[in-house]
Amino acid sequence: MSNSILENLTYDPDQGRIAFKDVRYLLIRPETLRDFQKAVEAELGREKVAEMMLQGGLTGGRLSSKRYREVFGYSDQQIVEFMVKMGSEIGWGKFSVEKFDPAKGELVVQVASSPFAAVYGQSDTGVCHLIRGVLAGLAEGIFGRAVTSTETHCLAKGDAHCRFAIRAA
Ligand SMILES: [Zn+2]
Repeated sequence: MSNSILENLTYDPDQGRIAFKDVRYLLIRPETLRDFQKAVEAELGREKVAEMMLQGGLTGGRLSSKRYREVFGYSDQQIVEFMVKMGSEIGWGKFSVEKFDPAKGELVVQVASSPFAAVYGQSDTGVCHLIRGVLAGLAEGIFGRAVTSTETHCLAKGDAHCRFAIRAA
């Protein structure tokens, strides 16, 4: 199965650097993120950590939507389609758009097989805060204003897939 990200990664052995279109990425096991997340949750509580991880994802989403608009001249629709494809290709689960309504400021994305949820174990709340944040950053760039981003369904809660509803404020 072709993967446009993997096929276009560059590797600089002198720097230990992997990049896609000159943007650096790294591979990390989901267990590493999970253990970090759980350790911080034990200290600060799950709500605070959810907010902090959302902030972490926001930056990447904002940078990506800005870059794909300014450097590659993508339309809003193309940015959403590209990010959904890329989300799957970088291994963050199988992304699909359930709804995209720029006029109403609404974006709903489903993610099957989230690696974050898959390793987390049972939870009574959604745990995929990085995905929630990246999608929020992406949507902010498109809608041009602040958004709320909610994980309405999560594999870790026993749902069939994760689902993210993003709305412009
Ligand atoms: Zn989830």
